[in-house]
Amino acid sequence: MITSSRDQERKERQDKRFISKETQTTAKYLRRIEELSGAPEGMKTFLDTLRHIYVDMKGIDIPSSQKTIGTYCVMVPQELIYAAGAVPVKLCSGNYTAFFIGDDITPRDACPLVKAVAGFKHTGLMPIYENCSMMIVPVTCDCKKKIAGMLSDYCNVVTMHIPTTKNDDDIDEYVMQLYDICEKLESVTGNRITYDTLSGAFYKVGRAQYELSEFIRLKKLSPYLIRGTHAMTIMNAAAYMHAEAWADALRSVNLSLSLRAMKGEKVTNKKLPRILLTGSPIVFPNVKIPLLIEEMGGIFAGDETCMGERGMWDPPVITDNSFDGMMRALANRSLRPCPCPTFADNSQRIYRLKQLIKENQIQGVIYHVLRGCLVYDFEYKLIEDELGKLDIPVIRLESDYNEEDVEQLRIRIEAFIELIKLKQPPEKSSKSRRAL
Ligand code: SF4
Ligand code: SF4
Repeated sequence: MITSSRDQERKERQDKRFISKETQTTAKYLRRIEELSGAPEGMKTFLDTLRHIYVDMKGIDIPSSQKTIGTYCVMVPQELIYAAGAVPVKLCSGNYTAFFIGDDITPRDACPLVKAVAGFKHTGLMPIYENCSMMIVPVTCDCKKKIAGMLSDYCNVVTMHIPTTKNDDDIDEYVMQLYDICEKLESVTGNRITYDTLSGAFYKVGRAQYELSEFIRLKKLSPYLIRGTHAMTIMNAAAYMHAEAWADALRSVNLSLSLRAMKGEKVTNKKLPRILLTGSPIVFPNVKIPLLIEEMGGIFAGDETCMGERGMWDPPVITDNSFDGMMRALANRSLRPCPCPTFADNSQRIYRLKQLIKENQIQGVIYHVLRGCLVYDFEYKLIEDELGKLDIPVIRLESDYNEEDVEQLRIRIEAFIELIKLKQPPEKSSKSRRAL
């Protein structure tokens, strides 16, 4: 008995330490984002959402009768979850404190993202994990496979097989998996997925996709109306908001950006090097690289990562207006345009990168590799060669979920920005537009 009460006290002390560290680190990153100049009106909703989840440590803001379903990849169609009357929450994590806990219970070479997931689940203290009625884990790499096994010790986990190619047979097989997920969602929520609930879900997610497409259009305008770090914060908050609430909040931001464009306002008067970030996911609060880009005098102008634009970029295309047609549209949207390196042939990613470079007048690319993330690291050489042909400088930044490498990252990003400045033509003075 004495031992168990001591164990209990020790656990309470550990929990307190975890909560205090976790909330302090997250609050610090939120502060740094708030301190960046030029945040658009309407930004507060997204910052408050992240604060609510990670500093106040609360669940997502939906009626208590509604169930949440955890997902671990953009290839899980949110529409199915909404069609079952539940709400999806993305559980990939960028949390440093949870990473340190996960580090003790996972292999040394596992990636920090899954270490942080393991850490959160192990502590049992995060409502967004604890409240999930089911978790859907697409097996896109070995780390995801093993984390699915680990999570199933704590909760109801469904895995999805992700094919290595995107042939018609692969799509057929994916459609079957989606039907299987429908059954599991129905059994967890007690709600039937019907033609009407599924088309209603397409409408909900479609509104968010529409606002996102407008946001991306405004974000691309030159001179810039918004910083990439603010844009990424908005995208990250989507993981913890109902799609319709997120769409409404993004609409306010779009209106304020349109107003800026009309008034001739811009984020900065200086001609800052325009940088694109690609590679392993950047998940809040691990936003040290976007922050460093903008704090060191660059503009984070393009984003090809999964917690960013990629997550909701491609809307599903329905060619057959039946239930099965909608399921096929979801399978096609999940697999065909996805430039994740989990696929054997990923030439689409090169096409997408070139498109983003052109549309955003990118001058340099930062290739982010989370330590242990082999799939992304594997593609670095290919991307470096392709960008070399376009004379676009690229650097590979390997990073972890801790702050020990911040100085080293700062030095490398600063040197990269200087290199781009040397390549760009001298600045002409312009007084026609007002900086925020
Ligand atoms: S990087 Fe790949 S595995 Fe990870 S969320 Fe994106 S699509 Fe899924
Ligand atoms: S794709 Fe990379 S970052 Fe994502 S779970 Fe796998 S190893 Fe980790």
